[in-house]
Formats: sequence, structure tokens, C-alpha cells
Amino acid sequence: MKSLKDIPNEELFSLLKSWGQPAFRVKQLRTWLYGPRFAATYDEMTNLPATLREKLAETVAPFALKVVQRLEDPNDGTVKWLSELLDGNTIETVLIRVPHRTTVCVSTQVGCAVRCVFCASGRYGLVRDLTKAEIIDQVMLACRELGRRVDNVVVMGMGEPLMNLDALVSALDELGSPETIDLGNRHVTISTSGIVPGIRALAELRRPWNLALSLHAVNDEERARIIPTEHRYPLEEIFAACEYHRELTNRMLTLEYALIDGRNDSRSTLERLAAIARRLHAKVNLIPCNSNASNCKSPSLRRCHEALAFLEQSGVQATLRISHGQGILAACGQLKFKI
Ligand code: SF4
Repeated sequence: MKSLKDIPNEELFSLLKSWGQPAFRVKQLRTWLYGPRFAATYDEMTNLPATLREKLAETVAPFALKVVQRLEDPNDGTVKWLSELLDGNTIETVLIRVPHRTTVCVSTQVGCAVRCVFCASGRYGLVRDLTKAEIIDQVMLACRELGRRVDNVVVMGMGEPLMNLDALVSALDELGSPETIDLGNRHVTISTSGIVPGIRALAELRRPWNLALSLHAVNDEERARIIPTEHRYPLEEIFAACEYHRELTNRMLTLEYALIDGRNDSRSTLERLAAIARRLHAKVNLIPCNSNASNCKSPSLRRCHEALAFLEQSGVQATLRISHGQGILAACGQLKFKI
């Protein structure tokens, strides 16, 4: 059975027309789906005739996800959902709340082909790409939880987003439409491990979505220890693609850098990181590696702050991101670790 949000509008019009329904039913349906209720069942759609609701339920799934577990971090309110897809596969989605801002981190694939060594999501390789509806409904989960539109969407969950670009772009375009939740392009960040053809293809779409590059190492030799050969591109090619993206979209790049104790936190490595950031006009997000999810250990908090101060003194805009949701294994590199 297909999911409702995977069915193009024209197809939905024809389907409802073939059942003798007036055209305005499609609009009614979309209003239920995209707010203010963010409906996930036909039963909620009380102004649709009961017979139509029954027919729809037999033909199209109203929501692509079935939540099988919801965990909330009592310390910071982060929520992590484990959801079952219609084919029985499972994915995770995380909602992060900080004062005045809510962000949902969505997955784009079941598993991941890139298989970075520190990442729990890639441990078993790629199972399959998510569909447009499966991506959209993760955002809807967050909206349902909040009772309003989520502020930001970061595409940093399970999977390499640029390896499922078509579905991702359709989902983000749909979410950006004034007929759905009107999510501003600038409130979207797509994170990549550095898939060069994907970065170039994304650039050519000229959507002002933010791009984040998971850099983690400042030379090819070190990066080879983190990302296996098959889907790893030379840094120079990645940097050229990022420059191309900036040229075409005018969006600032973020370099995500997981600090790993004794591995990528030396003074000379940070000097190189600062030089890369200056060259790419990028800001740097330092993320202490989540030691409980891998063999990589985080440097002490003091060393993390020293690294931050060093970058700032080197003229680089930088932040130290203490991961949210550590209590429920919802931080970066922890998705799909335990379940
Ligand atoms: S870090 Fe991202 S690209 Fe690397 S294996 Fe995990 S999900 Fe895939």
C-alpha cells in the first residue's frame, strides 16, 4: 500500500474523482494532513464522509510511520522516535528543543552505505532509501508533538541524504510550499559526508538550503581512517564542490567536526582546520565525539573549549555543540545504536 504523501496531487484528484468525490476533497485532505492538526489517521478527518474515509483506509496509508517507541530525555526534553515503516523496516527521528527554537533531525535512508567508523547508523550498510512521504512524516511527527510547525529541519539522521536526493528534494519542496507548512528554505540544513556529485547536483537546484559537511579530518589520509574507500572523495574535490554550492546558492557552509581525543584535536590539525574554514568561508561546529557509541573518545570539556578558543582566535566563526539527547542515545552517531 502506498502512503498518502507519496501520491502526486493530480493522481489523488483522479482517484477521488473516480469515486465520485468533488475536487475540494483534496484540499480538505491536505488541510488535515498539514495543519493545524497534522492528522495521521482518517478517523481524525471528521469533515470527510465516513464512506470516503473507509475507502481511503483500504487504498492508501494516511501516515507512513507507525511509532513503536518514544523516548524523552528528562534533562533537555529531546524526543527520539523509533518508527516502523509500512514494510517493517525501522527508522529514527529526533526532536531537539532549546529555548525559542525547535529542530527535527530526520533520516533519509534505512541504514547507510557510507559506513563511517564512528557511526551507529551505517554499521549494517544500506537497506533502502526512504520515500518522500517517509521523510515528510518525520517532520509531521515533530509538528504533532509540538502542536505547531517545527522551526527547523536538519537532515542529519540515518543515511547519507545526497544519496537519496530526489526523494529528499521532493519532500523539502513539499514542506516549503505555502499549501503545506511553508517551511522557509533557510530553516533547512542538509548534512553530507562529502558526496561530490550530490553536492554539485544540489548546488544546481539553487535552493537556499544550508549545507553542512561532516569533515572530521583535515587530510585524506586521516579521513581514510574514518570513511571507507567506496564512498569517500578526495578532500580537494569536496572543497571544490562546496565552493560551487556557495557560488550558486550564496549559503554559508558549516563544517561539522567531531573532536576525537588524540586523533584530530592537535594544535597542527586545528590550524589546518582553521585554514580550510577560512578558504571555504565556512563556520565550524565542533562536536565532542559521543564516546559511549563508538571506540572514539571525546577530549575533556576543557580541551574542547580550548579548541573552540583557538579557532575563534584564528578568525573562524565556530561553535561547540554539546549534543542534546545523550540520555536517550539520540545524539549524532548514536541513532540505531541500541535498538
Ligand atoms: S555518519 Fe552519516 S554518512 Fe556516515 S555512516 Fe553515519 S549516516 Fe552514513
